[in-house]
Amino acid sequence: MRKSCSQTFTHKVKFRDWEFEVNSELTRKTYAKAIGGFSEGCDCKYCLNYYPQKDEIFPEEIKILFEDLGIDYHKESECVSSFSISEFSNVEEYLDKLHGYGGWFHFAGNIISGKDLDSNQNIYDITPITDKFSIGFRQKNDLSFFESDVPLVQVEFAVEIPWIIGEVVED
Ligand SMILES: [Zn+2]
Repeated sequence: MRKSCSQTFTHKVKFRDWEFEVNSELTRKTYAKAIGGFSEGCDCKYCLNYYPQKDEIFPEEIKILFEDLGIDYHKESECVSSFSISEFSNVEEYLDKLHGYGGWFHFAGNIISGKDLDSNQNIYDITPITDKFSIGFRQKNDLSFFESDVPLVQVEFAVEIPWIIGEVVED
């Protein structure tokens, strides 16, 4: 019996200074099976503030890239807040100013060329796409949705978003 080779097809995706080898079919299937993003499964206030804003968080350029890669941006593997309460001197400021978040996704494939976040261990050298959104790539598989043992690229992002849920978090 011949082994199915449907999961070995790859194509090249270019994005800015990067070139990736991508199995978008496997990536798309994996995201279709995932029931939701990390933030939907969490009831902390950071996540409650994050998930209703997903459609606004990702710049158009990134939505197009994710479509090529097979990633569903609604289904992040991890979502973390990167701001500290001490950045805000009072509740009004807290509700007015933007709040830093980060998170990541994966796609099946490899980085062929372009910056790899792991190649420089000292600096977290993430690339700005807009004044609020930055992105970077590394060969890694933290908390991935993928069941098979294929090489994965971890797509890491940082973003600044408003606080929309009213309730303020305490450290
Ligand atoms: Zn949470």
